[in-house]
Amino acid sequence: MKNNKCPNCESTEIIENLDLRGGEGNPPYVMVSEPEPPNRPFIWMPKFVRSYIKASVCGSCGYTELHTINYKEMNETYKKGYRSK
Ligand SMILES: [Zn+2]
Repeated sequence: MKNNKCPNCESTEIIENLDLRGGEGNPPYVMVSEPEPPNRPFIWMPKFVRSYIKASVCGSCGYTELHTINYKEMNETYKKGYRSK
């Protein structure tokens, strides 16, 4: 969290860098995929970039902030047209 302080209650008791769990036994993630080409070949698999998510939790009020680890590559491919499905 910004300046290691809760934006909700201004506490500095922040629990950092937690794995986000759930999703039928697998950790949740975010993902963007290549758009389908205009002349789609018969066999075509979209390229994709995905990232796991870390959470920070305020130890005073429970406010939770999420952080995507692989944001740089996701941002670069997003600019090339990759999108979430
Ligand atoms: Zn708080």
